[in-house]
Amino acid sequence: TGKAELVMVYHRLPYEEYRVDGKIRRRRPTSPNGIIPTLQSFFANQRGSWIAWSIYEGDEEPEDFVVHTSVDAKQYPLLTAARVALTKEQVDIFYKRFSKEAFWPTLHTFWERARFREEDWDTYCEVNRAFAERTAEEAAEGALIWIHDYNLWMVPAYLRELRPDLRIAFFHHTYFPSADVFNVLPWRREIVGSLLQCDYVAFHIPRQVENFVDVARGVVPLTTLSRQNCAPRFLTYGCAVGLETMTTAIDTGTRVVRLGAHPVGLDLGRIRNALEQDGAEARMAELRDEFEGMKLILSVERLDYTKGILEKLKAYELLLDENPELRGKVTLVSICVPAAREMTIYDELQTQIEQTIGHINGRFADVGWTPVQFYFRGFPFEELMAWYAMADVMWITPLRDGLNLVAKEFVATQGLTQGCGVLVLSEFAGAAAELKGAILTNPHDLHDLARTCYLGLNLPRAEAQARLRQLNDIVEYNDIRRWGDEFIAAIKDEGDSGAST
Ligand code: UDP
Repeated sequence: TGKAELVMVYHRLPYEEYRVDGKIRRRRPTSPNGIIPTLQSFFANQRGSWIAWSIYEGDEEPEDFVVHTSVDAKQYPLLTAARVALTKEQVDIFYKRFSKEAFWPTLHTFWERARFREEDWDTYCEVNRAFAERTAEEAAEGALIWIHDYNLWMVPAYLRELRPDLRIAFFHHTYFPSADVFNVLPWRREIVGSLLQCDYVAFHIPRQVENFVDVARGVVPLTTLSRQNCAPRFLTYGCAVGLETMTTAIDTGTRVVRLGAHPVGLDLGRIRNALEQDGAEARMAELRDEFEGMKLILSVERLDYTKGILEKLKAYELLLDENPELRGKVTLVSICVPAAREMTIYDELQTQIEQTIGHINGRFADVGWTPVQFYFRGFPFEELMAWYAMADVMWITPLRDGLNLVAKEFVATQGLTQGCGVLVLSEFAGAAAELKGAILTNPHDLHDLARTCYLGLNLPRAEAQARLRQLNDIVEYNDIRRWGDEFIAAIKDEGDSGAST
């Protein structure tokens, strides 16, 4: 077999591995997203490799463990997985502890929560180096390398050293903060230096690109080679993350790095399919009965301080306080997906959320009415779609979010079920830069949160429908297929990179 023309460097495999009697078996991931199938589809007609970590255990030899396995022999015979064998401890530090405790808070502008440990950085670099070495072995001369997200920030630096011939591209999946915040990171120079070894670096939206350029400029002297108006698909004003112009290429003196903005889109086929399942139908019928004569405000997110759940609950209390006529007429349903069990940093937030909900329900509940219904668990995708379809107001209020797929899923589901629900969306979510037609809100302002929710509840039907049509056009156009195709085209220097020419 030849070497790979395209190498995907992703933190995890496109399938899940588990062990039965010491033998490795695989299954489809429990939380499939639209991205993995799309990334796989690029291997339909080119030889490729997918690099991801796997934990080796007990008496397994790491050397035996990194053999190639096919990902999907039938559909993608040209794609094999090349695993980076890590110990459980390495994974815990690099993936769970360090990423969540040092990088996640800083990236989302909660730098005061961040905890920096020098020894964790060493492990992080060691793991990133292992990824780079594996990639270097896999790649054909001049191959295209697509690296994903902040878990793998240091891969470009090590890889460039090993293989100067490669075309390296990086997509950043989370928010990227302004220089004022990012520069708090003790390893900012190393991280930015590594990203500047890429040929192409991309983010969801122009604001994140521009933040990156500001950070980079503080680390190395840069020349801006081109700066363009943001593509028409982005909002240029009216929200915290909108921007008028964007840098599309910089020169570091040793390399030209091109930059782009590609907001991730949805796999609409998957949503259509989910809505056709019996589970979705049954749940919709149940919800229709349950919320008869009641307006449903829906909130869906992972348990995370970045998502603004507490702020939203306090705003809901204010809404009920100031508008007594809403009591008994609206219900806030909060679906909150728990963090992994070992992430104890979320325990306190969970307690605060439960207390606040208890307080609100205790204050306002009446016979036959519970103001807040709280589901502290994830739902299967098809049931989630049923909730989206039944919501009158989708209330998405992160304090900071890279993009927010839930907002797009709501829009697509409402579009497919001819609904007329209203999207109330935080200005601080990346998706706000794209989703013209949403009612935008500042989640740091309780009064604005309550006011926009009220507006959403009372929006005339015709306006709600018009807004939804506008939103639906955006979500349908920029689907996950287009996202992937545009990214690949941009690396190959064929396409528009989120700026208009
Ligand atoms: N999700 C799910 N079940 C649930 C709640 C959420 O499968 O009960 C999925 C949801 O469909 C979405 C993802 O979790 O695709 C959350 O993505 P988003 O970009 O909104 O936020 P993130 O969690 O990545 O910060």
